[in-house]
Amino acid sequence: MAGSISKYFYQAAANKTCADFHHPGKTCTQAAIQCLQNGVLGSAKFYFPLCLLPLLFKLHKWNEIKTWKEFLKNYTRCIFSGFFITTTGFILFCAAYQIFKGYYFPLCICLPSSLGAMFCGFLPKKYLHIDGLSLLNVYIEFVIKQSKFKAVAWLRNSKIGATFLYGIMNSIIVYCLHVLKSNRFWFVNVGKIANQNSEKDICVHGTIKCADYLKKEVKQTSLFAFGVAMFKLVFPRLMTLLKNPQLLFTKYWKKFDFGLFMFILASNGIFKAVRCKLNQMKKYPRPINVFIAGLASSLGYIFYPRYIIFTMGISTLIEVIYKYLDNYYISNNIQLPKIMTIINRLPMCELVYMFGIGMTFQLRVVYPHLTNKFIHKMMSIGSSGRSDEVARNYAGIMMGLQ
Ligand SMILES: [Zn+2]
Ligand SMILES: [Zn+2]
Repeated sequence: MAGSISKYFYQAAANKTCADFHHPGKTCTQAAIQCLQNGVLGSAKFYFPLCLLPLLFKLHKWNEIKTWKEFLKNYTRCIFSGFFITTTGFILFCAAYQIFKGYYFPLCICLPSSLGAMFCGFLPKKYLHIDGLSLLNVYIEFVIKQSKFKAVAWLRNSKIGATFLYGIMNSIIVYCLHVLKSNRFWFVNVGKIANQNSEKDICVHGTIKCADYLKKEVKQTSLFAFGVAMFKLVFPRLMTLLKNPQLLFTKYWKKFDFGLFMFILASNGIFKAVRCKLNQMKKYPRPINVFIAGLASSLGYIFYPRYIIFTMGISTLIEVIYKYLDNYYISNNIQLPKIMTIINRLPMCELVYMFGIGMTFQLRVVYPHLTNKFIHKMMSIGSSGRSDEVARNYAGIMMGLQ
Protein backbone atom coordinates (compact mmCIF):
# COMPACT_ATOMS: atom_id res chain seq x y z
CA MET A 1 0.00 0.00 0.00
CA ALA A 2 2.91 2.31 0.76
CA GLY A 3 3.72 2.38 -2.96
CA SER A 4 0.38 3.96 -3.79
CA ILE A 5 0.89 6.83 -1.39
CA SER A 6 2.08 9.88 -3.21
CA LYS A 7 5.78 10.60 -3.18
CA TYR A 8 4.66 14.13 -2.59
CA PHE A 9 3.45 13.11 0.85
CA TYR A 10 6.94 12.04 1.92
CA GLN A 11 8.33 15.35 0.72
CA ALA A 12 5.58 17.25 2.53
CA ALA A 13 6.04 15.15 5.69
CA ALA A 14 9.86 15.30 5.64
CA ASN A 15 10.13 17.95 8.35
CA LYS A 16 6.95 17.07 10.21
CA THR A 17 6.83 15.49 13.64
CA CYS A 18 4.37 13.25 15.43
CA ALA A 19 2.95 16.45 16.96
CA ASP A 20 1.98 17.77 13.50
CA PHE A 21 0.05 14.58 12.77
CA HIS A 22 -1.30 13.50 16.13
CA HIS A 23 -1.17 16.25 18.72
CA PRO A 24 -0.66 19.77 17.30
CA GLY A 25 0.29 22.32 19.95
CA LYS A 26 1.15 19.72 22.60
CA THR A 27 4.25 17.80 23.60
CA CYS A 28 4.16 14.00 23.41
CA THR A 29 3.87 13.78 27.23
CA GLN A 30 1.01 16.30 27.42
CA ALA A 31 -0.81 14.45 24.62
CA ALA A 32 -0.28 11.08 26.31
CA ILE A 33 -1.67 12.40 29.62
CA GLN A 34 -4.71 13.82 27.86
CA CYS A 35 -5.20 10.55 26.02
CA LEU A 36 -5.10 8.58 29.29
CA GLN A 37 -7.61 11.00 30.83
CA ASN A 38 -10.05 10.66 27.92
CA GLY A 39 -9.43 6.94 27.45
CA VAL A 40 -11.92 5.50 29.92
CA LEU A 41 -14.74 7.84 28.90
CA GLY A 42 -14.12 7.20 25.16
CA SER A 43 -14.14 3.46 25.73
CA ALA A 44 -17.26 3.65 27.94
CA LYS A 45 -19.10 5.68 25.28
CA PHE A 46 -18.05 3.33 22.50
CA TYR A 47 -19.02 0.08 24.19
CA PHE A 48 -22.20 1.25 25.91
CA PRO A 49 -24.53 0.74 22.91
CA LEU A 50 -22.62 -2.37 21.82
CA CYS A 51 -23.21 -3.98 25.23
CA LEU A 52 -26.74 -2.60 25.47
CA LEU A 53 -27.89 -4.14 22.19
CA PRO A 54 -27.80 -7.81 23.35
CA LEU A 55 -29.54 -6.70 26.55
CA LEU A 56 -32.44 -5.30 24.54
CA PHE A 57 -33.08 -8.76 23.12
CA LYS A 58 -33.29 -10.22 26.61
CA LEU A 59 -36.26 -8.12 27.73
CA HIS A 60 -37.90 -11.23 29.17
CA LYS A 61 -34.85 -11.82 31.38
CA TRP A 62 -34.54 -8.33 32.84
CA ASN A 63 -35.97 -9.51 36.15
CA GLU A 64 -33.05 -11.91 36.59
CA ILE A 65 -29.97 -10.62 38.44
CA LYS A 66 -27.81 -12.89 36.27
CA THR A 67 -28.68 -10.81 33.17
CA TRP A 68 -27.48 -7.57 34.77
CA LYS A 69 -24.40 -9.20 36.26
CA GLU A 70 -23.44 -10.46 32.81
CA PHE A 71 -24.06 -7.04 31.25
CA LEU A 72 -21.88 -5.31 33.89
CA LYS A 73 -19.13 -7.93 33.58
CA ASN A 74 -19.03 -7.65 29.78
CA TYR A 75 -19.23 -3.86 29.84
CA THR A 76 -16.38 -3.57 32.37
CA ARG A 77 -14.18 -5.91 30.35
CA CYS A 78 -14.94 -3.93 27.17
CA ILE A 79 -14.13 -0.56 28.82
CA PHE A 80 -10.92 -1.97 30.26
CA SER A 81 -9.66 -3.44 26.98
CA GLY A 82 -10.91 -0.49 24.89
CA PHE A 83 -8.97 1.87 27.15
CA PHE A 84 -5.70 -0.06 26.69
CA ILE A 85 -6.22 -0.59 22.96
CA THR A 86 -6.71 3.11 22.15
CA THR A 87 -4.27 4.63 24.64
CA THR A 88 -1.45 2.17 23.88
CA GLY A 89 -1.95 2.70 20.15
CA PHE A 90 -1.84 6.47 20.58
CA ILE A 91 1.28 6.46 22.76
CA LEU A 92 2.99 4.07 20.31
CA PHE A 93 2.36 6.56 17.45
CA CYS A 94 4.85 8.91 19.09
CA ALA A 95 7.22 6.05 19.91
CA ALA A 96 7.11 4.86 16.26
CA TYR A 97 7.96 8.37 15.08
CA GLN A 98 10.99 8.48 17.41
CA ILE A 99 12.17 4.97 16.47
CA PHE A 100 11.84 5.35 12.70
CA LYS A 101 13.07 8.97 12.72
CA GLY A 102 10.30 10.20 10.49
CA TYR A 103 6.77 9.57 9.37
CA TYR A 104 6.46 6.43 7.28
CA PHE A 105 3.42 4.41 6.26
CA PRO A 106 2.38 1.91 7.44
CA LEU A 107 4.90 1.93 10.27
CA CYS A 108 3.56 5.04 11.95
CA ILE A 109 -0.18 4.38 11.87
CA CYS A 110 -0.97 0.74 11.12
CA LEU A 111 1.75 -0.84 13.26
CA PRO A 112 1.16 1.17 16.50
CA SER A 113 -2.62 0.61 16.24
CA SER A 114 -2.13 -3.12 15.68
CA LEU A 115 0.25 -3.42 18.62
CA GLY A 116 -2.16 -1.51 20.87
CA ALA A 117 -4.84 -3.98 19.81
CA MET A 118 -2.91 -6.78 21.56
CA PHE A 119 -5.12 -5.95 24.55
CA CYS A 120 -8.16 -7.20 22.63
CA GLY A 121 -7.64 -10.53 24.43
CA PHE A 122 -9.47 -9.00 27.43
CA LEU A 123 -12.63 -8.46 25.37
CA PRO A 124 -15.43 -11.00 25.87
CA LYS A 125 -14.98 -13.66 23.19
CA LYS A 126 -18.18 -12.85 21.24
CA TYR A 127 -17.26 -9.14 21.04
CA LEU A 128 -13.74 -10.00 19.97
CA HIS A 129 -15.11 -12.22 17.20
CA ILE A 130 -17.73 -9.79 15.85
CA ASP A 131 -15.54 -6.68 16.20
CA GLY A 132 -12.59 -8.45 14.56
CA LEU A 133 -14.67 -9.50 11.55
CA SER A 134 -16.25 -6.02 11.26
CA LEU A 135 -12.78 -4.47 11.19
CA LEU A 136 -11.62 -7.00 8.60
CA ASN A 137 -14.65 -6.07 6.49
CA VAL A 138 -13.43 -2.46 6.31
CA TYR A 139 -10.29 -3.77 4.62
CA ILE A 140 -12.26 -6.06 2.27
CA GLU A 141 -14.43 -3.07 1.27
CA PHE A 142 -11.29 -1.07 0.51
CA VAL A 143 -9.88 -3.90 -1.62
CA ILE A 144 -13.13 -4.12 -3.64
CA LYS A 145 -13.41 -0.34 -4.08
CA GLN A 146 -9.87 0.17 -5.31
CA SER A 147 -9.49 -3.07 -7.30
CA LYS A 148 -8.48 -2.64 -10.95
CA PHE A 149 -9.77 -6.09 -11.99
CA LYS A 150 -12.46 -5.83 -14.66
CA ALA A 151 -14.71 -8.42 -12.97
CA VAL A 152 -14.58 -6.51 -9.67
CA ALA A 153 -15.20 -3.19 -11.44
CA TRP A 154 -18.27 -4.74 -13.12
CA LEU A 155 -19.48 -6.10 -9.80
CA ARG A 156 -19.18 -2.66 -8.18
CA ASN A 157 -21.72 -1.28 -10.64
CA SER A 158 -24.01 -4.27 -11.17
CA LYS A 159 -26.81 -4.73 -8.67
CA ILE A 160 -27.86 -8.00 -10.33
CA GLY A 161 -24.29 -9.34 -10.33
CA ALA A 162 -23.74 -8.41 -6.68
CA THR A 163 -27.10 -9.92 -5.65
CA PHE A 164 -26.31 -13.14 -7.52
CA LEU A 165 -22.89 -13.43 -5.89
CA TYR A 166 -24.33 -12.60 -2.50
CA GLY A 167 -26.92 -15.34 -3.15
CA ILE A 168 -24.20 -17.95 -3.71
CA MET A 169 -22.36 -16.85 -0.56
CA ASN A 170 -25.57 -16.80 1.48
CA SER A 171 -26.59 -20.30 0.35
CA ILE A 172 -23.21 -21.79 1.22
CA ILE A 173 -23.18 -20.00 4.59
CA VAL A 174 -26.63 -21.25 5.66
CA TYR A 175 -25.83 -24.74 4.35
CA CYS A 176 -22.62 -24.89 6.43
CA LEU A 177 -24.35 -23.45 9.52
CA HIS A 178 -27.09 -26.08 9.13
CA VAL A 179 -24.64 -28.96 8.79
CA LEU A 180 -22.50 -27.67 11.66
CA LYS A 181 -25.64 -27.11 13.82
CA SER A 182 -24.10 -23.76 14.58
CA ASN A 183 -25.77 -20.85 16.33
CA ARG A 184 -23.25 -18.40 14.91
CA PHE A 185 -24.78 -15.04 14.01
CA TRP A 186 -25.75 -14.56 10.40
CA PHE A 187 -28.41 -12.32 8.85
CA VAL A 188 -30.45 -15.41 8.07
CA ASN A 189 -31.13 -17.21 11.32
CA VAL A 190 -30.89 -20.90 10.49
CA GLY A 191 -32.17 -21.73 13.96
CA LYS A 192 -31.69 -24.66 16.25
CA ILE A 193 -32.06 -28.03 14.65
CA ALA A 194 -32.06 -30.24 17.71
CA ASN A 195 -34.70 -32.59 16.27
CA GLN A 196 -33.01 -32.85 12.91
CA ASN A 197 -33.12 -36.63 12.86
CA SER A 198 -36.71 -36.95 13.94
CA GLU A 199 -38.75 -38.48 11.13
CA LYS A 200 -42.06 -37.16 12.49
CA ASP A 201 -40.80 -33.62 12.78
CA ILE A 202 -40.55 -32.94 9.05
CA CYS A 203 -40.01 -29.20 9.40
CA VAL A 204 -37.80 -29.16 12.49
CA HIS A 205 -40.06 -26.79 14.39
CA GLY A 206 -41.78 -29.31 16.61
CA THR A 207 -45.53 -29.89 16.64
CA ILE A 208 -46.42 -26.29 15.76
CA LYS A 209 -48.00 -25.79 12.29
CA CYS A 210 -45.90 -24.19 9.51
CA ALA A 211 -48.19 -21.14 9.25
CA ASP A 212 -48.07 -20.51 13.02
CA TYR A 213 -44.33 -21.04 13.05
CA LEU A 214 -43.86 -18.54 10.20
CA LYS A 215 -46.07 -15.96 11.93
CA LYS A 216 -44.04 -16.29 15.13
CA GLU A 217 -40.75 -16.05 13.24
CA VAL A 218 -41.85 -12.95 11.29
CA LYS A 219 -42.86 -11.27 14.55
CA GLN A 220 -39.54 -12.07 16.23
CA THR A 221 -37.49 -11.11 13.16
CA SER A 222 -39.35 -7.79 12.86
CA LEU A 223 -38.33 -6.96 16.42
CA PHE A 224 -34.75 -7.95 15.76
CA ALA A 225 -34.60 -6.00 12.46
CA PHE A 226 -36.11 -2.98 14.20
CA GLY A 227 -33.48 -3.24 16.95
CA VAL A 228 -30.61 -3.39 14.44
CA ALA A 229 -31.94 -0.42 12.42
CA MET A 230 -32.48 1.56 15.63
CA PHE A 231 -28.95 0.75 16.74
CA LYS A 232 -27.63 2.13 13.44
CA LEU A 233 -29.72 5.25 13.96
CA VAL A 234 -28.90 5.86 17.62
CA PHE A 235 -25.27 4.77 17.93
CA PRO A 236 -23.56 7.69 16.13
CA ARG A 237 -25.88 10.18 17.88
CA LEU A 238 -25.98 8.59 21.31
CA MET A 239 -24.51 11.51 23.26
CA THR A 240 -26.76 14.07 21.52
CA LEU A 241 -29.80 11.88 22.13
CA LEU A 242 -28.98 11.33 25.81
CA LYS A 243 -29.07 15.12 26.24
CA ASN A 244 -32.11 15.65 23.98
CA PRO A 245 -34.09 12.40 23.62
CA GLN A 246 -36.98 14.17 21.86
CA LEU A 247 -34.68 14.74 18.84
CA LEU A 248 -35.21 11.07 18.01
CA PHE A 249 -38.85 11.78 17.17
CA THR A 250 -38.56 15.34 15.87
CA LYS A 251 -35.40 15.16 13.76
CA TYR A 252 -33.71 11.77 13.45
CA TRP A 253 -36.65 9.41 12.85
CA LYS A 254 -36.39 10.22 9.13
CA LYS A 255 -32.97 8.56 9.15
CA PHE A 256 -34.41 5.19 10.21
CA ASP A 257 -32.92 2.73 7.74
CA PHE A 258 -35.99 1.05 6.28
CA GLY A 259 -33.83 -0.77 3.70
CA LEU A 260 -31.82 -2.47 6.45
CA PHE A 261 -35.03 -3.37 8.30
CA MET A 262 -36.56 -4.90 5.15
CA PHE A 263 -33.33 -6.73 4.28
CA ILE A 264 -33.32 -8.64 7.57
CA LEU A 265 -37.06 -9.24 7.56
CA ALA A 266 -37.27 -10.37 3.91
CA SER A 267 -34.16 -12.57 4.11
CA ASN A 268 -35.45 -14.46 7.13
CA GLY A 269 -39.07 -14.55 6.03
CA ILE A 270 -38.30 -15.94 2.56
CA PHE A 271 -35.75 -18.41 3.96
CA LYS A 272 -38.12 -19.90 6.50
CA ALA A 273 -41.15 -19.99 4.17
CA VAL A 274 -39.19 -21.70 1.36
CA ARG A 275 -37.53 -24.13 3.77
CA CYS A 276 -40.91 -25.13 5.23
CA LYS A 277 -42.38 -25.62 1.75
CA LEU A 278 -39.44 -27.77 0.60
CA ASN A 279 -39.38 -29.80 3.82
CA GLN A 280 -43.08 -30.55 3.44
CA MET A 281 -42.53 -31.64 -0.19
CA LYS A 282 -39.91 -34.16 1.05
CA LYS A 283 -38.28 -34.12 -2.36
CA TYR A 284 -34.73 -33.37 -1.27
CA PRO A 285 -32.74 -33.94 1.94
CA ARG A 286 -32.94 -31.10 4.50
CA PRO A 287 -29.44 -29.64 3.86
CA ILE A 288 -30.34 -29.24 0.16
CA ASN A 289 -33.60 -27.54 1.15
CA VAL A 290 -31.60 -25.16 3.33
CA PHE A 291 -29.27 -24.41 0.40
CA ILE A 292 -32.19 -23.66 -1.97
CA ALA A 293 -34.00 -21.59 0.68
CA GLY A 294 -30.73 -19.67 1.20
CA LEU A 295 -30.57 -18.90 -2.50
CA ALA A 296 -34.18 -17.66 -2.54
CA SER A 297 -33.72 -15.60 0.62
CA SER A 298 -30.89 -13.66 -1.05
CA LEU A 299 -33.59 -11.60 -2.78
CA GLY A 300 -33.68 -9.67 0.51
CA TYR A 301 -30.32 -8.19 -0.50
CA ILE A 302 -32.14 -6.05 -3.08
CA PHE A 303 -33.48 -3.93 -0.20
CA TYR A 304 -30.00 -3.21 1.12
CA PRO A 305 -27.29 -3.77 -1.49
CA ARG A 306 -24.48 -2.33 0.63
CA TYR A 307 -20.80 -3.07 0.98
CA ILE A 308 -21.20 -3.75 4.69
CA ILE A 309 -23.50 -6.74 3.96
CA PHE A 310 -21.49 -7.99 1.01
CA THR A 311 -18.15 -7.85 2.85
CA MET A 312 -19.69 -9.52 5.87
CA GLY A 313 -20.76 -12.27 3.45
CA ILE A 314 -17.16 -12.73 2.27
CA SER A 315 -15.61 -12.89 5.76
CA THR A 316 -18.40 -15.12 7.13
CA LEU A 317 -18.13 -17.43 4.11
CA ILE A 318 -14.38 -17.90 4.68
CA GLU A 319 -14.96 -18.62 8.35
CA VAL A 320 -17.81 -21.12 7.94
CA ILE A 321 -16.12 -22.99 5.07
CA TYR A 322 -13.04 -23.34 7.25
CA LYS A 323 -15.14 -24.66 10.13
CA TYR A 324 -17.00 -26.99 7.76
CA LEU A 325 -13.72 -28.47 6.48
CA ASP A 326 -12.32 -28.71 10.01
CA ASN A 327 -15.45 -30.55 11.11
CA TYR A 328 -15.39 -32.79 8.01
CA TYR A 329 -11.78 -33.89 8.58
CA ILE A 330 -12.28 -34.51 12.29
CA SER A 331 -15.61 -36.35 12.02
CA ASN A 332 -14.20 -38.61 9.26
CA ASN A 333 -10.95 -39.25 11.14
CA ILE A 334 -8.88 -37.73 8.35
CA GLN A 335 -5.57 -36.08 9.16
CA LEU A 336 -5.88 -32.27 8.99
CA PRO A 337 -3.74 -30.58 6.33
CA LYS A 338 -0.58 -29.03 7.83
CA ILE A 339 -1.78 -25.47 7.18
CA MET A 340 -5.01 -26.08 9.12
CA THR A 341 -3.11 -27.61 12.03
CA ILE A 342 -0.99 -24.44 12.20
CA ILE A 343 -4.02 -22.13 11.91
CA ASN A 344 -5.86 -24.02 14.65
CA ARG A 345 -2.95 -23.40 17.02
CA LEU A 346 -2.90 -19.66 16.33
CA PRO A 347 -5.05 -17.13 18.23
CA MET A 348 -6.89 -16.26 15.00
CA CYS A 349 -9.54 -14.01 16.55
CA GLU A 350 -6.86 -11.85 18.19
CA LEU A 351 -4.71 -11.76 15.04
CA VAL A 352 -7.65 -10.79 12.80
CA TYR A 353 -8.62 -8.07 15.30
CA MET A 354 -5.07 -6.68 15.41
CA PHE A 355 -4.75 -6.67 11.63
CA GLY A 356 -8.23 -5.17 11.27
CA ILE A 357 -7.70 -2.32 13.70
CA GLY A 358 -4.32 -1.38 12.21
CA MET A 359 -5.68 -1.36 8.67
CA THR A 360 -8.88 0.44 9.64
CA PHE A 361 -6.96 3.29 11.27
CA GLN A 362 -4.57 3.51 8.34
CA LEU A 363 -7.42 3.54 5.78
CA ARG A 364 -9.42 6.08 7.82
CA VAL A 365 -6.48 8.48 7.63
CA VAL A 366 -5.06 7.79 4.18
CA TYR A 367 -8.12 6.66 2.18
CA PRO A 368 -11.15 8.17 3.97
CA HIS A 369 -13.17 8.17 0.73
CA LEU A 370 -12.74 4.39 0.39
CA THR A 371 -13.95 3.59 3.90
CA ASN A 372 -17.42 3.43 5.37
CA LYS A 373 -18.72 6.67 6.93
CA PHE A 374 -20.35 4.71 9.74
CA ILE A 375 -16.89 3.39 10.66
CA HIS A 376 -15.58 6.98 10.72
CA LYS A 377 -18.24 7.83 13.30
CA MET A 378 -17.58 4.74 15.40
CA MET A 379 -13.84 5.40 15.42
CA SER A 380 -14.42 9.02 16.33
CA ILE A 381 -16.48 7.99 19.39
CA GLY A 382 -14.01 5.30 20.48
CA SER A 383 -10.96 7.55 20.14
CA SER A 384 -12.62 10.71 21.55
CA GLY A 385 -12.29 12.45 18.17
CA ARG A 386 -8.59 11.66 17.66
CA SER A 387 -9.15 9.58 14.50
CA ASP A 388 -10.86 12.60 12.87
CA GLU A 389 -8.09 14.91 14.04
CA VAL A 390 -5.29 12.70 12.65
CA ALA A 391 -7.17 12.35 9.33
CA ARG A 392 -7.62 16.14 9.16
CA ASN A 393 -3.95 16.79 9.93
CA TYR A 394 -2.88 14.22 7.36
CA ALA A 395 -5.09 15.81 4.67
CA GLY A 396 -3.76 19.27 5.63
CA ILE A 397 -0.16 18.13 5.26
CA MET A 398 -0.95 16.39 1.94
CA MET A 399 -2.44 19.60 0.58
CA GLY A 400 0.42 21.71 1.87
CA LEU A 401 -1.87 23.62 4.26
CA GLN A 402 0.23 22.81 7.33
ZN1 LIG B 1 4.29 12.72 19.86
ZN1 LIG C 1 -42.68 -25.82 8.52
